[in-house]
Amino acid sequence: MTSLRLLIMGPQGVGKGTQAERLSAHYGIPHISTGDIFRYNLKNGTALGKEAGRYINKGELVPDEVTDRIVEDRLHQDDAASGWILDGYPRDAEQVEALDKMLERMGQRLDAVVTLDAAQDVLLERMKKRAAIEGRADDNPTAIAARLKTYDTQTKPLLKKYQSRGLLVSVNGVGKIEDITATIIEKLDQLCSNN
Ligand code: AMP
Repeated sequence: MTSLRLLIMGPQGVGKGTQAERLSAHYGIPHISTGDIFRYNLKNGTALGKEAGRYINKGELVPDEVTDRIVEDRLHQDDAASGWILDGYPRDAEQVEALDKMLERMGQRLDAVVTLDAAQDVLLERMKKRAAIEGRADDNPTAIAARLKTYDTQTKPLLKKYQSRGLLVSVNGVGKIEDITATIIEKLDQLCSNN
């Protein structure tokens, strides 16, 4: 594969991060997670971290202009020249537009959008477990509920846009991790060989 530019979308707890890592290794492209970038900055007390923290701890979205700039900077780094998998971006309609414009400026295009889904009770159970293991500041019950709601109202509707562009690859997020990866790869390879 010469280049591959992917998005991975889905609600919190569906296993996006895990699958993104595995796809990153399989295709040899960097895994770019906006959540990870924000958490790194939060931990290190940077100005960006301080600003983002105000939203993250409540389960709200960090303002678009902040997030868009971070993504554009990251996509310009050398390791992203021949592909990437973006995890956690775009998350609202404005970000979809911002990404379209960024890619146009860079002379690039998206190859596919992977979406994972699972029932709400499965997601809540997984997030509860993760909270116990990782101790993320936003894995408290109020922030978890807010994040799931943010996903449903602001992010999930974006899938229709990508579906109408013929880019969507939908996979069930419940099952064995390696089986889910295999299904994603099979569907992605199919889609990309048709385009
Ligand atoms: P995540 O690890 O993807 O669940 O992201 C954790 C938190 O970081 C989210 O709840 C948001 O507060 C913030 N965040 C991550 N990605 C974005 C984005 N694309 N736009 C706005 N906020 C984001």
